[in-house]
Amino acid sequence: MSESQPEIRHFAKNWQQQLAEAFNNIEDLCRYLHLSPDDLPVSVAAAENFPLRVPLSFAACMEKGNPHDPLLRQVLPIKEELFAYPGFSHDPVGDLASATQTGVLHKYHGRVLFINTGSCAINCRYCFRRNFPYADLQLSKQKEDAAIKTIQNDTSISEVILSGGDPLLLSESRLARLIKQLDGIKHLKRIRIHSRLPIVLPARITDDFINTLTQSPKQIIIVMHCNHANEINDRVIAACNSLRNSAITLFNQSVLLKGVNDNAEVLCELSEQLFSHGIIPYYLHLLDKATGTGHFEISEAEALALMRQVQAALPGYLVPKLVKEQAGATSKQTIL
Ligand SMILES: *Cc1c(COP(=O)(O)O)cnc(C)c1O
Ligand code: SF4
Repeated sequence: MSESQPEIRHFAKNWQQQLAEAFNNIEDLCRYLHLSPDDLPVSVAAAENFPLRVPLSFAACMEKGNPHDPLLRQVLPIKEELFAYPGFSHDPVGDLASATQTGVLHKYHGRVLFINTGSCAINCRYCFRRNFPYADLQLSKQKEDAAIKTIQNDTSISEVILSGGDPLLLSESRLARLIKQLDGIKHLKRIRIHSRLPIVLPARITDDFINTLTQSPKQIIIVMHCNHANEINDRVIAACNSLRNSAITLFNQSVLLKGVNDNAEVLCELSEQLFSHGIIPYYLHLLDKATGTGHFEISEAEALALMRQVQAALPGYLVPKLVKEQAGATSKQTIL
C-alpha cells in the first residue's frame, strides 16, 4: 500500500483529529475512490436517515475504482436501505436501546454489558444502531457511578463488557477513570472491551491507552470487529501488536453480510489473517434484522452451508462460532 502525501500527513495526526476528518458525505468518499456517485446506487435519503461516516484509515483499505468493494459496501448509503423487507423491524434487539438509559444490561450469567456511549467512529450500514437517535449519548457521571454501584453490589458478576456504540470513543481520562473504578471491585475477574476502533481507527490505540490497561489488575480482553481481511492494514497490525505485547487477549467478531463476506474463501482468509496477527476468530453473527439492512441478509441455511466449507478447510480454532442474538435468551444462540 503506497500512500500519498496528504494521507501520510493525516495518519500522523492524533486519533481525535483523524476522527474529525473522517469522510461524512458520499461525494467526498467517491472522489477519493475514483468513483462517480452517478454510477452507484447511492441514496441521499438513506444518508439522511443514517449519515455516512468513514475514517480515512478504513477507506484507504478500499480498492480504488471498484464499485463492489466489500469495505465500501459496508459504509455506502444505498437505495436498498429504503426497501421494506418482511421480518425486519426498528428494534430487533430491543433491550439495548433501554440499556443506554441506565448504562447496564444484565442478561447473561456472570457478565454485564456496560454502555457508556452511543457513538461510533464509523457508521456501518448493517448495524441495528442505525435506527436509534442516540448518536451522542454519553452516560452522565452520576449514571455511570450508579451503574458501577450495581456491579459492585452483585458478586455474581465476574466480567464487565464495555460496549456501545464504541467505548473507545470515550476520552482517555474518562476511560481511565472508569477502569480504575472497575479495578476496585474485588469480585470482577475480567474487563472486556468491544470495539471496532482497532480496525477502523487504529490511532486510538495510544501509549496512554495501553498504560491504562496494563495498570489494571484485571485480565483485559479486547473483542474487535473485522468483517473482511482487507480491513487489516499496517496500522491495524501495529496497534494489535502493541496490545498483544501488553498481554491483552484479542478476539474478533464479524457479521455475515451478503456482498461482503458471504463466501467460504473470504471467511477463511479473514480467519487466517486475524490469527497471523494474534487475533482469535470468536463469533460470526447472523445479521440483526433491523430496518434498512435487509439487503445484507444471509439465511441460516446459507450460513450453515458456508460454515461447513470453512470447517472443512481450517483447523477448529480458526472457525468462528456462528451465532445469533435472540430476544429473551440467556446466551447467544449457537447455530449448529
Ligand atoms: C453478547 C452479549 C454478551 C457477551 O456474550 P459472550 O457470549 O460472553 O460473548 C453479554 N451480554 C449481552 C447482553 C450480550 O448481548
Ligand atoms: S456499533 Fe459496531 S457495527 Fe454498529 S455502527 Fe458502531 S462500529 Fe459499526
